[in-house]
Amino acid sequence: MITDWDTIIIGAGAAGLFCAPYAAEGGKRTLVIDHATKPGEKIRISGGGRCNFTNMHAEPANFTGQNPHFHKSALARFTQWDFIEMVDRAGIAWHEKTLGQLFCDGKSTQIVDLLVQNLKDAGAELRLSTSVENLEQTDDGFALTTSAGALTCRNLVLATGGKSIPRMGATGFAYDIARQFGHNIINPRPALVPLTFPEGRFAALSGVSLPVRVWTQSASFDEAMLFTHRGLSGPAILQISSFWHEGTSIHVDLTGGRDLFSALRDQRQAEGRRQLSTELANHLPARLVEFLATEWADRFDLTQRLADQSDTALRALTDQLSDWSLTPSGSEGYRTAEVTLGGIATDGIDSKSMMSKTVPGLYFIGECVDVTGWLGGFNFQWAWSSAHAAGRHIAEA
Ligand SMILES: Cc1cc2nc3c(=O)[nH]c(=O)nc-3n(C[C@H](O)[C@H](O)[C@H](O)COP(=O)(O)OP(=O)(O)OC[C@H]3O[C@@H](n4cnc5c(N)ncnc54)[C@H](O)[C@@H]3O)c2cc1C
Repeated sequence: MITDWDTIIIGAGAAGLFCAPYAAEGGKRTLVIDHATKPGEKIRISGGGRCNFTNMHAEPANFTGQNPHFHKSALARFTQWDFIEMVDRAGIAWHEKTLGQLFCDGKSTQIVDLLVQNLKDAGAELRLSTSVENLEQTDDGFALTTSAGALTCRNLVLATGGKSIPRMGATGFAYDIARQFGHNIINPRPALVPLTFPEGRFAALSGVSLPVRVWTQSASFDEAMLFTHRGLSGPAILQISSFWHEGTSIHVDLTGGRDLFSALRDQRQAEGRRQLSTELANHLPARLVEFLATEWADRFDLTQRLADQSDTALRALTDQLSDWSLTPSGSEGYRTAEVTLGGIATDGIDSKSMMSKTVPGLYFIGECVDVTGWLGGFNFQWAWSSAHAAGRHIAEA
């Protein structure tokens, strides 16, 4: 039987849109469907509206998942430099903000427009407001019942992302389909997400931000941390949230790696009459010092003079400042999480083609797979690289 389409891609997000032109090479009939009314909505809102579309320093170590090697192949065959070249060719101006993170100078919709244009130029079709009601394997591929009628295809690409930001149409659809075809799912959980603390714990500090080092047993990041009404946020916290587990602590070095002990000791020599809290406020936000004076009142009296501090006392204080152990009560969850950790287990997927090892013609790409990037453009790079791997494999088949 001849199928309606060579390839149907479900999900017109970063990965699905990017995959389509490759899959359509050589005139292969390719359709992208999405239940949303607009394509690439997460691209549109990403990077504060300027889309942090990749990272110059992207390498396999910036990604997590059960198998630390799985993502290497796709990332090596379509790199950040390949995407940058594509952006340059389209005349989209960009800049490096910090730590290799590349953003559009203009709006992130430039990236969406580029992907949709490439899809159309390749002869692929995009159908929005179309949801999938049923999906089955046939002798020739797959049969789909959609809100816009029945469809058949030889190859089916699942690119419906993770569960983050449900109000934007995120669903667990890819996981359900993967399960239907016998694939395992690594427990999905919100990541790149603010961490919450018992009501009002940091309310007095809301809006205070400072550079810190934050770590758990498995990772460490040097970035900014922000206190909020609900808890902790900012890049350092979003990063560490991907490595934090419910009930465990995170460690915060409020000195950001600086030698505060020597600084305080020198100051004791120069201006011994100064209050500890006054001197600390030269190194940390004053509101934070005020907060810590109360928080640690049973151990440190910050109203004392510098001159009255022994080396041991100064050492105890700076040790505490450089390892503040905090136990979050939870995270803000999928409502604000930038990505979903976990997902379709990579042991059932071929890393070169992103095709299921057990169901020929079924592909999984982008965030629905158990590969999660750090904050900073890495998640889009995974979307581009995994989509490219699947698209090329389909075109060459
Ligand atoms: C606020 C925010 C900011 C971000 N900023 C950045 C950034 O600057 N840089 C970066 O690298 N990453 C960023 N990310 C992460 C990045 O957006 C995702 O990792 C990336 O979009 C994943 O691509 P994807 O194609 O796999 O999924 P998505 O882009 O989420 O696309 C999935 C598509 O599938 C559709 N879909 C879902 N379920 C169904 C269904 N049942 N039927 C039909 N269609 C369905 C959705 O409507 C959507 O269009 C950000 C995320 C958020 C939430």
